[in-house]
Amino acid sequence: MAKLQHSIGELIKLSAGYLTEKGCSSPRLDAELLLGHVLGLDRLSLYLNLDKPLNKKEVDEYRALIGQRGQRVPVPHLTGEREFYSLALSVSPQVLIPRPETELLVDKVLELIEPAEPVWILDLGTGSGAIALALACQDPNIFVTAADLSAAALRVAEKNAEQLEMNAQIDFIESDLFENIQGKYNVICSNPPYIPRAQLAQAMPEVRKEPALALDGGEDGLVFYRRILNQAASFLEHSGFVVLEIGCDQARHVREIGEQRGLSWQETVRDYAGKDRVVVFRWA
Ligand code: GLN
Repeated sequence: MAKLQHSIGELIKLSAGYLTEKGCSSPRLDAELLLGHVLGLDRLSLYLNLDKPLNKKEVDEYRALIGQRGQRVPVPHLTGEREFYSLALSVSPQVLIPRPETELLVDKVLELIEPAEPVWILDLGTGSGAIALALACQDPNIFVTAADLSAAALRVAEKNAEQLEMNAQIDFIESDLFENIQGKYNVICSNPPYIPRAQLAQAMPEVRKEPALALDGGEDGLVFYRRILNQAASFLEHSGFVVLEIGCDQARHVREIGEQRGLSWQETVRDYAGKDRVVVFRWA
């Protein structure tokens, strides 16, 4: 990026090369997302304007972002935004960056419910509000209680709900899992922290810039499944479901924990990489 008169296409190529050297796993995509952010263009528009030169201010701003990305700051922390279930969500370093795998959990919940009548869903550890919002947006009869221990995370989630005009369908509650929750729900869902603590220390640099509170699943990664499944039945309507995202090697353990608590295991759903990703229980 030495000379200033670079076109969009050249800049993307140069910075993708730099990010590759820095060990980023999707360098070209990252370069495009960051340049698109600086220019206020989506990726398609970038491609339609590959020969367009940038002015100095744009290049400087972009260069600073690429520098930070080279330090392995996650792209959504730089753009403040991440797409989830086709929703543009605000994110901050206080929340887990929504992952594409988690869209499977949303798909599964939508498959289980029949919103011809009002459906009440509890989302434990809502973070940015990704799951709660993706669900609520699908039907005006879907009502979600979105809980999180972190007040900072709830502020991000509430901002997202305002932006998407979903406040009427979502209640935000500061709560350590069920602590401040009342009532009964048709579905309890969660993407709890599930990375075993020792593994977290060795995770990719990007992951270590996300809140440990959202990732650290205790010594064996299963602490939150025990806590959730211990209490879930008391907060479920008859025939209600528990739908949980899991780490790819946790299905057997989580199934055992749920069955020991009297829940009936329904299925384990695999993600696009063929890995176990979501477990479904029913309270008969
Ligand atoms: N899927 C995330 C990761 O592997 C973990 C999310 C979580 O702990 N809930 O980085």
